[in-house]
Amino acid sequence: MRKKIVAGNWKMNMDYSEGISTFSEIVNMVRDEKKGDQIAVICAPYIHLNSLAQLSSGIVKIGAQNCHQNESGAYTGEISAKMIKSTGCEYVIVGHSERRQYFAESDVLLAEKTAIALKNNLTPIFCIGETLDERNNGSYYQVLKSQLENGIFLLNAEDFAKVVLAYEPVWAIGTGLTATPEQAQDIHAFIRSEIEAKYGWQLADDTTILYGGSCNPKNASELFAQNDIDGGLIGGASLKSRDFTEIIKALN
Ligand code: 13P
Repeated sequence: MRKKIVAGNWKMNMDYSEGISTFSEIVNMVRDEKKGDQIAVICAPYIHLNSLAQLSSGIVKIGAQNCHQNESGAYTGEISAKMIKSTGCEYVIVGHSERRQYFAESDVLLAEKTAIALKNNLTPIFCIGETLDERNNGSYYQVLKSQLENGIFLLNAEDFAKVVLAYEPVWAIGTGLTATPEQAQDIHAFIRSEIEAKYGWQLADDTTILYGGSCNPKNASELFAQNDIDGGLIGGASLKSRDFTEIIKALN
């Protein structure tokens, strides 16, 4: 079954006490607003994961924003999927465009990160998206297809069924430029048709596909009303407890 998810991505924001107080507010607000089968997630910097997991009361799930591709070892400064899981975390973002762009993360690397996340029972939120140039020159379907084929379609059907996808057009991230509901729906339907071609209709219908990129309390309802949009991956607006809660309320 497709799930309805709103996941916040705090990125490199929130010191320790800010994280605790904002998350506590989010838990209190979401407790009153979230409907039964909806899932709220906060993907926080590593320093917060364990504390937030303790505060979550199961109402808001916890995610990390990245993991290393290896199990353990001499990788100074890195964090493994197993370590993330041990904090009480359930999700991990893989392949965010900021990781692809600033840390040169390739499709091959992202396929490895997805595999190790799954092995450690974390749900990967696997991101794809085109840049403004790729949107303007019309190559975006090809770009998205290639990100899917080389990053995530290497999984067998059983593992693919455990993954959440996120479409985040790079030109809409942090820019205030949101994809229109029609543009986003068009791409989400395209992604679902690619999944169907690879894994069949049932799995395509069951896959949760989130939209991300300047999603806010004003535009969330219209985006979430689209047939193939199953929720959002929220950057800036997830830093404010009220905005994040309003976006959850927009889930239908
Ligand atoms: P904004 O919502 O700030 O545009 O960020 C989107 C994003 O990158 C979420 O992962």
